[in-house]
Amino acid sequence: MKNLSELKVENIKAITFDLDGVIIPTGTELRESPDGTELFIKTKIISDDFFRDIEILKKHIWINFSSGRNLLYLQSVLSPILWKNVSLQGENGNVTLLEGKLSAVEYDLEYFDLLKEIKEEIKKEEIRGFEPKNFILTVHCDKGDKIPEIVRSLDKKGLLYCLWTGEAYDIGHKSRSKAEGVSKICEFLKIGAKQMLTMGNNLNDVEMLKYGTGVTVNPARAEGEYKTSGVGLGGEEIARYLVDYYQNK
Ligand SMILES: [Mg+2]
Repeated sequence: MKNLSELKVENIKAITFDLDGVIIPTGTELRESPDGTELFIKTKIISDDFFRDIEILKKHIWINFSSGRNLLYLQSVLSPILWKNVSLQGENGNVTLLEGKLSAVEYDLEYFDLLKEIKEEIKKEEIRGFEPKNFILTVHCDKGDKIPEIVRSLDKKGLLYCLWTGEAYDIGHKSRSKAEGVSKICEFLKIGAKQMLTMGNNLNDVEMLKYGTGVTVNPARAEGEYKTSGVGLGGEEIARYLVDYYQNK
């Protein structure tokens, strides 16, 4: 994997940031009461320096954010730097908010029924709770075999992925990853896949890192053509790197 210093910034027209572990330190606390009537979620904060750099960057390139989290959360934590030249994608590429337009992928009821069935089965296990999502199921719990086993046993047709993200399992449809979401942004911008820099650190980023010009923050978990230094948050590092480029050009 190459270092950032080898990146040809002049070829880049847009960038997609993952959130957790890339622009926000990892470590989400989530607790839901067993009957689903109480929910507590606490995540870390995005730095003012990053917001300042994005304000500069969006004058030069398109800024996209793609996360496993729901769109409401993205809209809330990224609110200071919305909306001009910025788009949001939630739930691993399933939902997009672009130029004031909300769009989402469509699944048949078989998929939603399957997720519901899996959710009811998982409820019988010791878990911290479910993160609110429309199109995927995110189970906060300790890592183990039980959740993947439940998914495997109920998903007879092999439709689903079940990925451990470090604090939860993301369960969703294999036909949709962050890469398909990012391809929609490239279509809208009329740019090639490799003109999109994609940044991620985890298993749900693997496809989009391959699709675009991938920069990994965690080479051991997700491969990229480039990697960040490993010091500090990788998303902050690349934002600073690009700002330096545009300011000294
Ligand atoms: Mg991440």
